Amino acid sequence: MSEYHLALPDGECIPYQLERRPRRTIGLKIGSSGLIVHAPKRISQTALESALLDKAGWIRKKLQQMAASRPAPIRWEDGAALKLLGNDIRLSLRADTRNRKVTFEQGALHVRLTDTSDSDAIVARVVQWYKKEALADFERRLQLYAARLGVPVPRLYLSNARSRWGSCNSRSEIRLNWRLLQAPPHLINYVVCHELAHLKEMNHSVRFWAVVESLYPDYRTAKRTLKQRSADLHQF
Ligand SMILES: [Zn+2]
Repeated sequence: MSEYHLALPDGECIPYQLERRPRRTIGLKIGSSGLIVHAPKRISQTALESALLDKAGWIRKKLQQMAASRPAPIRWEDGAALKLLGNDIRLSLRADTRNRKVTFEQGALHVRLTDTSDSDAIVARVVQWYKKEALADFERRLQLYAARLGVPVPRLYLSNARSRWGSCNSRSEIRLNWRLLQAPPHLINYVVCHELAHLKEMNHSVRFWAVVESLYPDYRTAKRTLKQRSADLHQF
């Protein structure tokens, strides 16, 4: 994919990613990173841009909708709202140079650090805590569903991927995104079941989905919900 810019008559400039493919029509997609254009291999850049200009109204509207649906980034200050297993929790900051433990008590994540205005340090401590909790939480779920599927418990690793919730490789290692710990338990279970099912079927065939369904009957709803919540779960 290459990066281009579409210059609009009013002076606005819309960046887009262009991918040329063996196809006959121009396809437009609005992703989290902006406009993606799939164009036929032979169309000239001039013809392509004039076709895009015809669609400028639609593109602008979609980009605006996308920006509006994106949750505001977290402000790392005392009282900030976080999510844990689908529940709203609060960040509680306290300046403390001696006790630097992060604890979770009564619906609040207590972070003690030297400088409570150092947002990088706050994020680092919070992420570290989520990762530690995620590993323990996911491990339990993995054990439970592996037993149900009748397979040995695979090795679990945490991932920090931006675009995927989990993966499974041929060495039977499963990676789950620590950010999932923010999601309601049933969604975490779905991802766990999905990756475990790959131990039986290393693809997304009909047979694969049948394995998923045997572990997690309502997988279709979970899959859809997870997709809708994706932006919410990527606030940090
Ligand atoms: Zn998969």
